[in-house]
Amino acid sequence: MSLASGRPILSIPGPSPLPDRVLRAAHRASPDIYGDELAELNLSVMAQLKRLAGTRAHLAPYIGNGHVGWEASAANLFDAGERVLALTSGHFGRSWAAQLAEMGIAVELLDFGLAPPDPARLAERLAADKAQDIRAVLVCQIDTASSASADIAAIRAAMGDHPALLVVDAIASLGSAPMKMDEWGVDVLISASQKGLMCLPGTCFLWFSDRAAARGRTSLTTPVWDWHLRANAEALWRFWGGTPPVQQIHALDEALRMILDEEGLEAVWARHHALAETVWAAVDAWGRGNPAIRLAVADPARRAASVTAIHLPGAEELRAWTAAKAGVTLGIGLGAEDPPNALRVAHMGHCNAAMVMGVLGAMEAGMCALKVPHGTGGLEAAAAVIAARA
Ligand SMILES: *Cc1c(COP(=O)(O)O)cnc(C)c1O
Repeated sequence: MSLASGRPILSIPGPSPLPDRVLRAAHRASPDIYGDELAELNLSVMAQLKRLAGTRAHLAPYIGNGHVGWEASAANLFDAGERVLALTSGHFGRSWAAQLAEMGIAVELLDFGLAPPDPARLAERLAADKAQDIRAVLVCQIDTASSASADIAAIRAAMGDHPALLVVDAIASLGSAPMKMDEWGVDVLISASQKGLMCLPGTCFLWFSDRAAARGRTSLTTPVWDWHLRANAEALWRFWGGTPPVQQIHALDEALRMILDEEGLEAVWARHHALAETVWAAVDAWGRGNPAIRLAVADPARRAASVTAIHLPGAEELRAWTAAKAGVTLGIGLGAEDPPNALRVAHMGHCNAAMVMGVLGAMEAGMCALKVPHGTGGLEAAAAVIAARA
């Protein structure tokens, strides 16, 4: 028999669960897109998005997903043939680098395997760049596949006075983990609507500093990608390079109100961190009975707040079991050393203690049903974290 009927729990790292309020905000007919009301709402959403990123920098919105954000930023920053250095900690950093290489950009990888970037190695590499022709350092704040979290302030510090721009993919981290774009000296920030922002997939955003803006246009900049046209827009259609995504603007307005004005950004970050610790506690307890069960990132300070990658024997069967029997969809072991024996638990965006306890409970039930050896006390350990943090 199956016990999966009821409200499904989606614990994959994007798209993340949508609040009913966000869905309701989007559920409306399109208005006159030349009217003042939508134009004003759009301006307010742009201002909220800058608050979310901790910046007074420029902001260009696009219709598209994270991959569009990667391409749009590169098309504004680089000429074909220019050199960039990508710090990679897993599947997403490497895919980003590969996409830019396809665009003709000379991407060099500083690869950390599935571990977070080491700022000392970056400093060493930049010191060797005597000609200073590396134009940018690229890094994912959270690589969603490995769940490694980069220390952005330390990476900026390691860049010293090398003139390269710092370009950060915050697609899996914005709205989940701290981001202080201006304070940390980030030149370009890339994010999208469907993860920590608790919105529908379909929009992405580029925040960029004066230093990045000073690049002007490059040989790769075409009218659709040109961020100056969007960031300096007056008419609503200019922001979006055509018809605005009306329903998504309403959804973003609602989600950003929930994050910034109701719960508060610091509280949102603290909630994500506490929920992450809840998952780590359960996995550590399971691992005490079976060393093959373990967290992918050893250092707690460098684990992601929004997603946890786990090595677990029989993970593929466990994912199938929790989906069929308990209504819980877990993330695949994307980019892991041994994908069938790895999975990811997302705790991203609209996610609370009960959802995480439900996910962990379903996993433990599945391990019992499938006879995956594991230590006892996982749920108690998780509950203790919630008791201590709440
Ligand atoms: C999800 C994700 C992407 C890709 O975003 P899409 O919307 O799937 O194109 C890129 N980078 C990171 C870190 C992500 O988590």
